[in-house]
Amino acid sequence: MDETLTCDVLILGSGGAGLMAALHAYDADPRLHIVLVAKGLVGKSGCTRLVQGGFNAVLHPADSVELHFRDTIRGGQFLNNQELAWELVTGAPRVIHELETKVGCFFDRGPDGCIHQKPFAGQSFDRTVHRGDLTGIEIVSRLHDQLFARGITFLDETRAVALVPAPAGDRIAGALLLDQRSGRFTLARAKVVVLATGGGPRMYKYSAPALEKTGDGYALAYRAGAVLIDMEMMQFHPTGLLAGASRLSGMVLEEGLRGAGGRLYNAQGERFMARYDPERLERSTRDVVARASYLEIMAGRGTPAGGVLLDVSHLGAEFVRRSFPGMVRRCAEVGYDLTRGPVEVTPTAHFHMGGVKIDRDCRCNLPGLLVAGEDAGGIHGANRLGGNGVADSTVFGARAGETAAALCAERPLAPIDLAAARAAQEAALRPLGREGENPFALRDALQTVMWERVGLVRDAAGLRAALAALAELAERAERTGVRGGPRWNLAWQQALDVQNLVLVARLTAAAALYREESRGSHYRSDFPARDDARWLVNVHQQRQAPAERIWDEPVALTRLRPESEVAVR
Ligand SMILES: Cc1cc2nc3c(=O)[nH]c(=O)nc-3n(C[C@H](O)[C@H](O)[C@H](O)COP(=O)(O)OP(=O)(O)OC[C@H]3O[C@@H](n4cnc5c(N)ncnc54)[C@H](O)[C@@H]3O)c2cc1C
Repeated sequence: MDETLTCDVLILGSGGAGLMAALHAYDADPRLHIVLVAKGLVGKSGCTRLVQGGFNAVLHPADSVELHFRDTIRGGQFLNNQELAWELVTGAPRVIHELETKVGCFFDRGPDGCIHQKPFAGQSFDRTVHRGDLTGIEIVSRLHDQLFARGITFLDETRAVALVPAPAGDRIAGALLLDQRSGRFTLARAKVVVLATGGGPRMYKYSAPALEKTGDGYALAYRAGAVLIDMEMMQFHPTGLLAGASRLSGMVLEEGLRGAGGRLYNAQGERFMARYDPERLERSTRDVVARASYLEIMAGRGTPAGGVLLDVSHLGAEFVRRSFPGMVRRCAEVGYDLTRGPVEVTPTAHFHMGGVKIDRDCRCNLPGLLVAGEDAGGIHGANRLGGNGVADSTVFGARAGETAAALCAERPLAPIDLAAARAAQEAALRPLGREGENPFALRDALQTVMWERVGLVRDAAGLRAALAALAELAERAERTGVRGGPRWNLAWQQALDVQNLVLVARLTAAAALYREESRGSHYRSDFPARDDARWLVNVHQQRQAPAERIWDEPVALTRLRPESEVAVR
């Protein structure tokens, strides 16, 4: 080990979840030594910063948390952990208040002086708070300022490589960190580790998340023995930009465009959503719209580049420019004028509803480890509503910070398993300076398998073929070789990323094969119907070396049952 570090709270990830965890841990006890680690730059990385559309919170007297809860459960098709979903909807208004009054965020206001809330798909009330179409930058930048002022220790461009247990194996005692710039390893010991690396479905050909998000949190937690749930639930956003080889391909054109009246057309000029959801059309939920676009493309009604067309020009150029300046700029960068004509789009992997199983205090089955944000599963069930993602990361990030502060008061620092840390370091160093598989080629092969076999439409034969291909890719990912030394070696980082991506892909495919029904974002063409009698269950996965255990447990319908659901429009 090159260096060691000791702290009270070690936070892995600096998106909405990590930043809020740091703020709330500090404010609960300013004496705590808090270290915030980010694979990217603290305050500049992750997806919270990319949040365009906004943040769902009940603020208007005519709206209610019960309605927001029902929308969330209905969107998640009853697979949600209802206690976590309740925590989300009741916590969201509190967080918006905190962000405005304590953190210093400015959100858009209407002529009446109240916070402006816009419509988002799948919701029965206009409750999405925003700052233009660049809401995430506002939230993350202000949170970053607050933490800077509080003297929190930041470790930029440092990736967590492994969670490290105590020698007795009974709890998590820290993490092995790698400074990507210097190539040096640090063994960080902490009373509590908060995992908030933001998931990240970058194992698909088209995907929207920040580049550094490669499922690290799931992989680290799974290898350490955490229980993961609902990994088959992968959300595809319907409107990823299609822009050839540009790195903007797959980036999201925000939900609000459809909310405001944007229309989708196939290459034959048909407004195809009329076939799939004649009532809600483009304002249907993401899973329905994304699958409809995919089926149109597969049926040969897509554009030559393999997309469909999103058109908002009928809303008026001035309105589009004023309401969606970020989207107009993004399209212009790849040669489209969003204000005046259609833009080519494709479904894009966007958000993993699955993740580490947590309770309302963000605890998981591993003592010493808390999990928040996209690394946690269960809140959104089979489909996340637009606007509930940043609410999730900030509400549960705050909760994780409070829990961490309380745990620090209770427990001393545990000893750490040095042998496990050394083994993890040796494994991470293995690809360096040897001949072996090219990690970039492996990534491309992985993305193709996942897109074709574990994407928007799945079946048993395709999933079995995918699992066989993924097993082979996993072996090859253990044999990568890269040139050069450890300093700023992007090929080496890619080799480490690919190992995590392949593991998460395997968990996703295995869970998708296990669930023999269609629900929310998980569509099986061989089991096209939702089957509440058998599948109102959460799929669980846990490593029990050398095997991988998979099982299901019934969803606890603690607040709302499918039969009592009243359709909300
Ligand atoms: C393009 C886009 C638009 C979106 N728009 C909306 C929206 O309008 N409304 C909404 O509610 N949700 C939206 N979402 C979803 C939302 O961004 C996420 O739900 C949420 O912000 C995730 O927060 P997080 O804190 O869990 O992770 P992130 O904000 O993604 O942060 C992850 C952090 O972990 C770090 N990290 C990753 N791996 C490691 C590692 N190994 N070690 C250390 N650090 C690591 C990253 O560098 C980053 O700092 C959008 C997502 C995308 C991709």
